[in-house]
Amino acid sequence: MTRICVAISEVDAASALAVAKDTITRGAESLEFRFDAMPVLPDDLTPFKELTVRRIATLREKDQGGAWEGNIEKKWEFLWRAAEAGFDVDLEFGHPLIARAHILKPSRVIISYHDLKKTPSTSRVIETLVECSARADMAKAAFTVRTMKDLDQVVEGGMWFGLSRERFTIIGMGELGTVTRVLAHKLGCTLAYASSEPGRETAPGQLDLETMKWLGKEPLVTGLVGYPVDHSISPSLHNAAFHAAGVRGIYLKWVTLSDELDEFLDVVDALGVKGFNVTIPHKETIIPNLDRLDPVAEKIGAVNTVTNEDGKLIGRNTDVIGVERTFEKNGVDIDGKMALVLGAGGASRSVCSFLASKGAEVDITNRTMGKAESLAKAFSGTTAVGRRVAEEKQYDIIVNCTPLGMKGFPQEMSISPHVLREGQFVMDTVYNPAVTPLLAEASRKGAVAVNGKDMLIYQALASFELWTGKVAEYDVMERAFREALP
Ligand code: NAP
Repeated sequence: MTRICVAISEVDAASALAVAKDTITRGAESLEFRFDAMPVLPDDLTPFKELTVRRIATLREKDQGGAWEGNIEKKWEFLWRAAEAGFDVDLEFGHPLIARAHILKPSRVIISYHDLKKTPSTSRVIETLVECSARADMAKAAFTVRTMKDLDQVVEGGMWFGLSRERFTIIGMGELGTVTRVLAHKLGCTLAYASSEPGRETAPGQLDLETMKWLGKEPLVTGLVGYPVDHSISPSLHNAAFHAAGVRGIYLKWVTLSDELDEFLDVVDALGVKGFNVTIPHKETIIPNLDRLDPVAEKIGAVNTVTNEDGKLIGRNTDVIGVERTFEKNGVDIDGKMALVLGAGGASRSVCSFLASKGAEVDITNRTMGKAESLAKAFSGTTAVGRRVAEEKQYDIIVNCTPLGMKGFPQEMSISPHVLREGQFVMDTVYNPAVTPLLAEASRKGAVAVNGKDMLIYQALASFELWTGKVAEYDVMERAFREALP
């Protein structure tokens, strides 16, 4: 069974003991004391004997990410005293003291390896655990996860080594590796390391005790796969909803390049990730890797939500639900109306599909006209038109599905202001900033101008329900949205 181990890094024994007692009352199941963080090692370790959970003493060396620079005999003398005081002892892989470690029994010896730069190949991950475990009661290996390929190698290596039934802990360090911490039990880890509180992490990607306790042993893990994902506020929306709905779950970000989708899907399968959102560049390319598409995603030809149903991956599209709710909320009459859609990418597919299905006559214009033409072929009731032609026509509805106006992109409009007029419904799928140049101009002309906030929230609400079976409240996600983008 995996135990939560709080890593304590304090400058003296008194503060380390105070943190230890506090974390025990908050549910810490074991403790690691990073004595290398103390400029002066404590002479008396007896007060630590009072602690009611297993304790590990660590004097981590500099090249392994610690602060210990003393000589070997000083280190041995301290670890010997720690073992006598009932601590288990952590020694770095390859350290000369490993040759004497058996003398420390009955204390348990952990042999740990930290790669602060990278993750090696899967076979090297396995070999590292095998080599650590050969002389230890528990092997610990932590690798820096920079890419989805690295994460796959950590997970695969951990899964293979787990078949040995030896005691071990494997960690993917960094934001991309967080899933190895929250699903440590799935990997068969003995310990799941946590910080005493946010901001007190001893390794990158470590979560705090309260979060780890809240998640429990079997959390529902979801997230966002794509590149880039840094700007996404979906984690704020979903994590707020998990808490409000009382569902022990977490939404993570998984930066994944075009050629790393297979590695991501390996991780999903190995760890039983419950579902995920899909963004650029995978919304269409993921389709051949899925077991089934629902009819809406099939029709649109793009997937933004995947559910893992007993190992089968089902692709769906909740963007279209986001578009539909936005139009409903604003009471827009669509049947028989003239609509102009700007852009011909993933968002445009959902908007065109929805508007055409509701009886609008839809024109699509795009920077690359070939893409507008293939989109128009895919949805009856839609026509590709050049920008000049569009600017001569009168539209009741205009929807921007390009990133123009979005933070970090040119603050321009993808169409001339001449097409904007009083009484129109103008939607921008962009939500950051809240008022894009298109929306500002549309309001000025007396049109109803709406940004992409509700589209984002309603698609997120629909995805949340698919993964959890629970209805999240709009207000909860809306509050999280405002906090994320004040
Ligand atoms: P996408 O598949 O990459 O498509 C982008 C579209 O924008 C393409 O038609 C592209 O034209 C066009 N475009 C890109 N840069 C342009 C520029 N500088 N000038 C003119 N046209 C440009 O992206 P997407 O997933 O459809 O996303 C598009 C926008 O929708 C983004 O701003 C995104 O934030 C927003 N969105 C919002 C939500 C929401 O929930 N509110 C959901 C999804 C998307 P080419 O074909 O010529 O490259």
